[in-house]
Amino acid sequence: MTELFSALRVNPDRMLGAFNQLALFGATGDGGVNRPTFSEAHLAARKWFREQIEGSGFEFKIDGAGNHSAVLTFERSNIKTLLLGSHLDSVPKGGRFDGALGVMAALEVLRTVKENGINLKLNLEAIDFTDEEGTHLSLFGSSALAGHLHPEDLQNPYSGRENFTAGLARAGLTEDGLLRAKREKESLAGYLELHIEQGKRLERAGIDIGVVSAIVGYGSYRMSFMGRADHAGSTTMEDRLDAGQGVAAFILAAREIVMRDFPNCVANVGKVEFAPGASNIVPARVDFLLEFRSPNEAQLSMLDDALMKSVHQKATQFGLQLRTEPLGKHLPNLMSANIQQAFQDSCSTLRLSSTTLASGAIHDAQSLVDVCPIGMIFVPSVDGASHAPREFTNWEDCINGANVLLQTVLRVASE
Ligand SMILES: [Zn+2]
Repeated sequence: MTELFSALRVNPDRMLGAFNQLALFGATGDGGVNRPTFSEAHLAARKWFREQIEGSGFEFKIDGAGNHSAVLTFERSNIKTLLLGSHLDSVPKGGRFDGALGVMAALEVLRTVKENGINLKLNLEAIDFTDEEGTHLSLFGSSALAGHLHPEDLQNPYSGRENFTAGLARAGLTEDGLLRAKREKESLAGYLELHIEQGKRLERAGIDIGVVSAIVGYGSYRMSFMGRADHAGSTTMEDRLDAGQGVAAFILAAREIVMRDFPNCVANVGKVEFAPGASNIVPARVDFLLEFRSPNEAQLSMLDDALMKSVHQKATQFGLQLRTEPLGKHLPNLMSANIQQAFQDSCSTLRLSSTTLASGAIHDAQSLVDVCPIGMIFVPSVDGASHAPREFTNWEDCINGANVLLQTVLRVASE
């Protein structure tokens, strides 16, 4: 890295101005934003982003999935593109930092590179991926760009077919277009994203930047314990085959297993239904959903085994029948080791503290894992809050993140 490069910084006032303007679209009056994909507020934010891109003299690009980008090209022909970005949509009544910070930082990086007349070996593109949060189809813009979207995926959107097709029409998009948004692998050099942590680890440790090592993988099951319905007043505690006791014991055991043997993992029983479901009948059956996550493939499988062993033990202990049905398994997505190193080197240049951590939440980066090298950094979330209006990151931390992104772009694109 030349001295000129390592001295470069983003313009904090310009980035704050853009960030605050963006936060007006769908503002809920309590610090949050309501910008579900293809809502009026979301479409207005997209239009504003396009005006920002064109007003700054960048080439504006839109693909069939509605992904918007600012493109900054350099002199050599046939060079690859380094993507930087995140998403402008929000969950219903969400926060103003999730996604928006990454897009505004990406645009600010391009503005800084352009105004300094820097010539890089990779083209840069600041991209807003459509519908990261899954109002219609989770990660659909990035999946479409990666070529992972198939016609059958469009048949069962979360929002229902009617809302989905109406939303596409409002945005001027078509299903055909979505399926044709794929970019060729050969054209992409990598994808970098700045995001808020959405957890408390950085704040708790007093660390400036989290370099993401992986996006966790997960497994999930639908399970049932079957016991026997009995009179809840006249059947003694010893005589019961109580399915409810089985699930209660398993929930506590799962917590203990994770905290004792898998400290960087999580497990959750998020839904429990008792049947017949009355205060005076011993539960004959309980249906429940289990999900668990890990940043490491081998560990995910060990955690799976440990939880299965425990649920079988509880069935035996309480005299219950057990039924288990796997719902899905998604392996962890690893970030590029080279990009992680570049992020860490950038933190050193900027004298910022950093640590590596796994992301427990999904992000657009994972769509691109088999297309190009991917990398992500997190900045601290105050009190870990996210997907809520009280979501907040100190502006100094946002600027630190943007400068790490800038320095890393200069490293990766000048090698
Ligand atoms: Zn996000």
